[in-house]
Amino acid sequence: MVVIIGGGLAGLSTAYHLGDADYVVLESESTPGGLCRSREIDGFIFDYTGHLLHLRDPRAIKLVEELLPGELAETARKAVIRSQGVTLPFPYQANLHGLPPEFVARCIVEFVKSLDREVPKDPATSFEDWALSVFGRGICDGFMFPYNEKLFRRKPADMTADWVSWAVPKPNLEEVVRGATGVTNTGMGYNATFRYPAAGGIGVLPAALARRVEHLRCDCPVTAVDLDAREVTLASGERLAYDKLVVTAPLPAFLAMTSGGGLDWPSHTPRLDASVVACLNLGIAREGLGDGAHWIYFPDDDVPFYRAGFPSNFSDAVAPPGTSSMYVEIGLRKDDAYDPERLTADMERGLRDAGLLLPRDTILVRDLVRVDPGYVIFDRSRQEAIAELVPALEKHDVHLIGRYGAWTYSYMERAILDGLETAASLHLAQE
Ligand SMILES: Cc1cc2nc3c(=O)[nH]c(=O)nc-3n(C[C@H](O)[C@H](O)[C@H](O)COP(=O)(O)OP(=O)(O)OC[C@H]3O[C@@H](n4cnc5c(N)ncnc54)[C@H](O)[C@@H]3O)c2cc1C
Repeated sequence: MVVIIGGGLAGLSTAYHLGDADYVVLESESTPGGLCRSREIDGFIFDYTGHLLHLRDPRAIKLVEELLPGELAETARKAVIRSQGVTLPFPYQANLHGLPPEFVARCIVEFVKSLDREVPKDPATSFEDWALSVFGRGICDGFMFPYNEKLFRRKPADMTADWVSWAVPKPNLEEVVRGATGVTNTGMGYNATFRYPAAGGIGVLPAALARRVEHLRCDCPVTAVDLDAREVTLASGERLAYDKLVVTAPLPAFLAMTSGGGLDWPSHTPRLDASVVACLNLGIAREGLGDGAHWIYFPDDDVPFYRAGFPSNFSDAVAPPGTSSMYVEIGLRKDDAYDPERLTADMERGLRDAGLLLPRDTILVRDLVRVDPGYVIFDRSRQEAIAELVPALEKHDVHLIGRYGAWTYSYMERAILDGLETAASLHLAQE
């Protein structure tokens, strides 16, 4: 019996790919889908902040197209950055034109100097050292450091760089010079295009997958795991035996409820840290919010949020006629005070200051969502903990997958592939 903790994309994909095998998915919430759910409020459909599909792997593309035939629109990203009073195309490092000329000159000179530097390969390298060696000080001071500090709520010197490989576009000299002189570099990075459901929000994807998963039990939070007895306990007190355990629930929470196996698992939870995302969803009584942009990055200190996005520019069907929708994200440390009224007021003030909300705008829906954990913090403590815990748990047939089970920085396609690859390895183990 395979017990899968969590019915988000990773857990559902594992179950789907296990086919006829003996398995059960245990999901604590009343609906499956995890972070990829959507919900409707007064005619607006909101995701848990923007969730756009960036598919590259043929296995994921095939599955998604089978699940949602003809239901996904593919769109070229329109993402911009607002900084120092100007709006630049994304990515910053390859589109500096418009920033103050002195600053642009500094960025280019320091980028050129960085070309002689070797990019550090040691996994313990800090994000600060990595970014300085790749971009030079100007681009780091203008975007890399302030943006990532707002997102992760950590100093660049206190993070490692082992999350950057796919997430941060690295332009060459020609691209930097062209971008700095006004030739827009488009199409760079992992998210140059995206797919999004024509109707229903991103939640239609996990919903379609869940319909093909026979043994899914919702409202079933797992509260304890005994590695010696190979047994999970549910909040109801029910116990279920397993041969293999697939964990997509957040790793620190899993460690906190685990016993047996000769290790004090809960004592390892403080080694794993994450930020919290406060996401304010807004429904506005005005069409065309965001001027066609899909999302905007805000690296500067004087804006409280790091990103704002416009779901009604991803799909017409997520907002009623004559309206627009928007989400705004603030990064918090997990022990920061969480005061919904203050957060909402700060974000709305920031939106008015940035001119995204006009004095005459009527807000039809306000919906503040706490995403906890939000972004895993990459640091040495995480590196050491993962290196010890993954093999130690594998010895007990525990597989850690998904964004939070594997405690990593990943995305929906990776969650789907984690499930597919885990199911294949479990099938092999049974043969
Ligand atoms: C702010 C933000 C924006 C993002 N934007 C994008 C994007 O644009 N594109 C993209 O591809 N990806 C994006 N992602 C990443 C994407 O959300 C994840 O990679 C993906 O949803 C992870 O799926 P998962 O199944 O691994 O985890 P989850 O969706 O977190 O699923 C885990 C499940 O486990 C359940 N669970 C937890 N504890 C228990 C328990 N004790 N017992 C039973 N069940 C439990 C939870 O309820 C949940 O349903 C974003 C993430 C964030 C935070």
